[in-house]
Amino acid sequence: MSEIKISIFDEFFCIADKCSYSCCRDWNKIGLLDDEMKIYLEEPYIAKGIDVTEKKFKFKEDNRCTFLNNSGLCKLVLKYGGDILCHTCSTYPRIIRMNHGVKEFTLGNGCPKVLDMLAKADVPLPFLLEGEGFTEEYLNSIDTVIRDIIIDILQCRDFPLWKRIYFIYSFVNALINKIEDEQLAVMGEYNSYDYIARLTKNYDTIEIDFETIIKKLHYFFNYVNNSEENKKRMPYIKYIDKYCNKEINFDMKKIELKLTELNEYMADYENMLENICVNIVFRGITSSKQEVILNTVIAMIMTLTMSLYTLFLIKYDEKIIEENDMYNIFSYYSRIIENNTINYKESLDRIMENGIFSKGDFFILCKGLDILS
Ligand code: SF4
Repeated sequence: MSEIKISIFDEFFCIADKCSYSCCRDWNKIGLLDDEMKIYLEEPYIAKGIDVTEKKFKFKEDNRCTFLNNSGLCKLVLKYGGDILCHTCSTYPRIIRMNHGVKEFTLGNGCPKVLDMLAKADVPLPFLLEGEGFTEEYLNSIDTVIRDIIIDILQCRDFPLWKRIYFIYSFVNALINKIEDEQLAVMGEYNSYDYIARLTKNYDTIEIDFETIIKKLHYFFNYVNNSEENKKRMPYIKYIDKYCNKEINFDMKKIELKLTELNEYMADYENMLENICVNIVFRGITSSKQEVILNTVIAMIMTLTMSLYTLFLIKYDEKIIEENDMYNIFSYYSRIIENNTINYKESLDRIMENGIFSKGDFFILCKGLDILS
């Protein structure tokens, strides 16, 4: 059987109590399989921490798993050893799945250790092929070809990341509501260096001011982060609450200064931003359904813009950004977006159905990426 792996897959190990943002908190969705439920319910110590109706581990008021101790270690592992872990806990953040006859291995961006590895990994992020080569089915499936084109564009460093991303968004939109022959023509057109160069040059002529970018971002934050449940989960919500939920008159001079500081800080994490995007696309596009492809690209835009804007707000609040804060913020948005643990997916569907966000709005957000990173 053929296998394709994100290059850092085999190097990953969980840093457990050294982790700044344990995966045993803020999800409340560690689902259990029937045979795991059976084993756990036979052991009274474990059974009391199981939500039998929902078939998952109970989480406490502070949104931590019942079995997570104060040192960041799992009480079940300490008492029974690693074999006691359920499938989700023992595999996270590893994602292994079959895609058109090829076994694919990747890592979720919701883990700070993965983000650290993506920051230190090469660009373009390599994928390792093992086994007999790709199946015909894999090579010829339209979703695999679209995914490859998107990853190639993401890794084309001749253009700034925000331009690559908006170009991809335009490409995906051009595929919508087309029959297969028309889609192939669109793919041919967008899979060309000259076309990227020509189209993205026009992006420079469109001026967007920072206030407009802020307005769009605040609107989206309020749309996604507006329930009390979400607020409890968001570790840096105080910054969002302080600046996004009311009319704040930002000081434009201070904005410029803080953006410069943020840009200087993020310059060391350029590889991480590109690699996060590549990882989202590799993981997300496993179907030729148009809404899956479009939602993956939007998830990529949202993960980056929401994370970077949260970092900007921390700077604006005169706080120092530690590396852990930065990883935690990207992890948090990756978790809610990739795993749909809160109502992000619902929000996204509503946004798409109601046309709340237009193509122009996504251009504004992408341009915001240029300013924020
Ligand atoms: S988030 Fe990653 S590093 Fe942290 S505890 Fe979970 S798997 Fe380990």
